[in-house]
Amino acid sequence: MPRIAIVSAMAEELGRLHEHLDPGAQCERHGGRDFWVGRLHGREVVMVLSRIGKVAAATTATLLIAHFEVSAIVFTGAAGGIGLDVQVGDVVLARSLLQHDMDASPLFPRFEVPLYGTDRFATDAALSAAVAAAAQAALAPDAPHTDDGLGPALAALAAARASAGLPPHQPRLHQGLVLSGDCFVSSRSQCDQLLSWHPDALAVEMEGAALAQVCADFGLPFAVLRTISDRADDQAHVDFPRFIAETASRYTLAIVSRLLDSTA
Ligand code: SAH
Repeated sequence: MPRIAIVSAMAEELGRLHEHLDPGAQCERHGGRDFWVGRLHGREVVMVLSRIGKVAAATTATLLIAHFEVSAIVFTGAAGGIGLDVQVGDVVLARSLLQHDMDASPLFPRFEVPLYGTDRFATDAALSAAVAAAAQAALAPDAPHTDDGLGPALAALAAARASAGLPPHQPRLHQGLVLSGDCFVSSRSQCDQLLSWHPDALAVEMEGAALAQVCADFGLPFAVLRTISDRADDQAHVDFPRFIAETASRYTLAIVSRLLDSTA
């Protein structure tokens, strides 16, 4: 059966899903990373932490392709929401990704990846549709209260909004452009600049577009799923660590479990 790779940058994003691997999973170490090979929800999987940033993500994707015969890669983690209505607790599914710190101008247009003739790398349509369906199911207000459900995560988010004096918000799924670069975006002025260049951008993170470039090189289907941990603004350095500790891995567990069930 084809093996699917599940990748996060940080342990806080993958931890709960990792605990659900069937007994007997094997660990292989390559390039300083632990690759866990086993079964999860009836599927052959390999799980790995990429570490943070574009080079780390590219290295990890290349190792997955070279050593594990994966048929697809799903990246799951947190991101800063920069789209107007993209709130903490929402889910963003990348349909295309762009390296916002790529600049070989004037030799090439700004943001274009040299010699690729484009600045945007598309995710796999069929895999992304399956991830979108899994995310919709997990976020549905009437989703069943299972152990792998979002109930505790949504309760924590609602409490945080209430204590900050914010009105209630029903988390939802957005799909579109995600920006990646080697910096943690944490000011309103950085967001405004990114949006002036890419008005349709929904979220910013540090790995997805690098994974996209490697997958394009190898013709491998991939998807990038991001839960919004912060608004990439002056509050991001406070929101991000709180979200990552309490909530991130519940989103990964809820959505990726449903994805694996639906594609088993
Ligand atoms: N040393 C920090 C590093 C976090 S970097 C820590 O451990 O607390 C933030 C990670 O979450 C990256 O993997 C990135 O992909 C994602 N991310 C979340 N919010 C982001 C933002 N506002 N800007 C860039 N990346 C963000």
